[in-house]
Amino acid sequence: MRITKVRTELLRMPLPRPMQAASSSDKKGGPVSKINMPVVFITTEDGTTGLGYSWSLLGGDTATRCILQDDFTPLLIDEDALDHERLWHKLYRRMQTGGRRGLVTQAQAAVDLALWDIKGKIAGLPVYKLLGGRRESAPVYYSDGGWLYMSVSEMVVAFEEYLALGMFGVKMKIGHADYRTDIERVREVRKALGDKVWIAVDANQKWDFPTAVRVGRELEQLGIAWFEEPLLCEDIPGHARLAAELDIPIALGETLGSRYEFNAYLRADAADILQPDIIRVGGITEMVKVVTMADVANLPVEPHHMMESTIHVACGVMESGAIEYMPWVANAFAEPMQIKNGQMLPPQKPGLGLEIPEEIIRRFRVG
Ligand code: MG
Repeated sequence: MRITKVRTELLRMPLPRPMQAASSSDKKGGPVSKINMPVVFITTEDGTTGLGYSWSLLGGDTATRCILQDDFTPLLIDEDALDHERLWHKLYRRMQTGGRRGLVTQAQAAVDLALWDIKGKIAGLPVYKLLGGRRESAPVYYSDGGWLYMSVSEMVVAFEEYLALGMFGVKMKIGHADYRTDIERVREVRKALGDKVWIAVDANQKWDFPTAVRVGRELEQLGIAWFEEPLLCEDIPGHARLAAELDIPIALGETLGSRYEFNAYLRADAADILQPDIIRVGGITEMVKVVTMADVANLPVEPHHMMESTIHVACGVMESGAIEYMPWVANAFAEPMQIKNGQMLPPQKPGLGLEIPEEIIRRFRVG
């Protein structure tokens, strides 16, 4: 199925709720209100068009568009769109000296999603069924209501709204200048929501080892489900020491760029829960490999947001693991994700089941 056309767009979508985490804030340290969404449409000789997309928060958007247009499009034209595995490696090898993680990989993810979308449309099957149909839904936790700039009462209002929809738990950010502020905020949220509610926390790489040990021990007392990204993501030995030192599970992986980077963590026994981001690892093709590696290591996978495409991997090949409800690009798509009784359902249309209306593209396009 020959590729005849590749169209690239760049959207800048307003976030439903501004975000602020230990590693992400605006120029003055305040909340961030927009997300970059490079989009690619790949068309084949029979007129089938596949949709893929990428994301970045604080830059890299026009560079990603350039990689899609200038580097990837000439490599894709006249190729067989059904050869996702071969094309993934073709792009990866070609760009090896330009970046085997980061923007190149994120652009590659957009292509990979579009190729899976095409495959599903041609087969007449949703992608999660093509991948394996391991389950028909995945539980959801709420992750867009615990930002650093929010007060405890604002967080609790947001959390309660989504817990009332049946989501099984919530995640909040930690990583203020003084870690004691975070402990106090977690304590107050725990008190407000009660002992039975599932709560996870995310430090977004804020601390050094001694501080992370101190924070981790406090979190254990508060019944927190996991301690996400306590240290710099490059510090594999530090995470290994921390995972050995603490009882609370260490969760990470959203900033890792491929199966090779996950492998380094697995070999060092440096994580308890793996959190691949479907875009940052290079798409569905690579994420499936990371999930298999986690299976072999007998570690849980809790994917990092981008729920609209992640749901296909989560239901296609994962027996367990939750979806992180983060509606950052939700407003780009024609239809909202279906959530029933706290479970997200994969779209049933052939392919990814996602559509971006032309009106949305015109409205949010970056020229
Ligand atoms: Mg995180």
